[in-house]
Amino acid sequence: EAKRNGRNQVCQITPQITKQMQIKRQIAATIPGALERGEFTAYFQPQADIETGEIVGAEALVRWHHPECGLLKPADFLDIAAEMGMIEDIDRQVLRISLAAVDKFRACGLHLPSISVNISGPRLMDPRLPEDVANTWTDRRCGLSIELLETIYLDDRREVPQIKENLQQLRNMGVEIHSDDFGSGRASIVGLLKVQPDRLKIECRMIRAALRDPHKSKVIAAILEMTRALGIAATAEGVESAKDIAAVRRIGCAYYQGNVLSPPLQQAAFIAFLSCQKMATKTKTAGRDGLP
Ligand code: C2E
Ligand code: MG
Ligand code: MG
Repeated sequence: EAKRNGRNQVCQITPQITKQMQIKRQIAATIPGALERGEFTAYFQPQADIETGEIVGAEALVRWHHPECGLLKPADFLDIAAEMGMIEDIDRQVLRISLAAVDKFRACGLHLPSISVNISGPRLMDPRLPEDVANTWTDRRCGLSIELLETIYLDDRREVPQIKENLQQLRNMGVEIHSDDFGSGRASIVGLLKVQPDRLKIECRMIRAALRDPHKSKVIAAILEMTRALGIAATAEGVESAKDIAAVRRIGCAYYQGNVLSPPLQQAAFIAFLSCQKMATKTKTAGRDGLP
């Protein structure tokens, strides 16, 4: 009986697994060509000052226009790319695409103060990283930040000299280091001591959880008070409602990002978003100037 059940189970799961494996294989097989054909692109999600609402920057998030599968998100292909040793190439393209986009925004009369790109572990260990950044981020009229997951430098207890070297060189160029998904890792304080980021990015989910639990809430507020004292500002991400905005402001985040402001947008839509913001700011200023 057990054997029959077992076999049944296998029979039920097999088509799904086979399908998943097929998709995975298809994705893996098409990554190298996609890099050559320029099928990867970046979507942009704005970040705002929580007090003034002013747009302070945007995060570039990779997307893949797959000819057969349609628009793919990072979760669909980044792990596969990492396994294949191709994630460095994707990160390199996203940096180039993002900085080119900022130039395009500027050509439309829209100034974006800063752009953030996500950097994977292998890319952070890539000895070519600082030179690539220097060669791509040439005019430096827009700030540049790299977002690193804590796990990249905490997974491994030993120091990776190349990471240290790369981070030092990037800092010397004026690139900011942002700690992504702060608090989701295991040893945030260790991470802070190791990398000394310029900014913490905090998942809103964690802040929402903290608000339900007074102890957690105190711990987070205390951590943010301490990091603020060290000159490290916090950006809340995944902010979805006005209630969330109030919560992250209360806990001490200076900036926010999330669907309540805007979901990640493709270039043309992001240009429209920036234009609207610019108009709104102009109207506000004109209103103020018009006062007696
Ligand atoms: P992340 O850097 O933490 O990016 C934030 C993710 O939250 C994005 O998912 C974004 O679309 C999503 N998000 C934004 N606002 C909201 C919201 O209000 N609510 C909710 N529920 N989600 C929101 P996405 O674009 O799927 O990216 C997932 C992850 O993939 C990123 O997490 C980042 O770790 C990684 N990633 C994205 N682009 C790149 C890249 O170019 N290179 C590398 N190495 N990793 C990347
Ligand atoms: Mg990020
Ligand atoms: Mg994040």
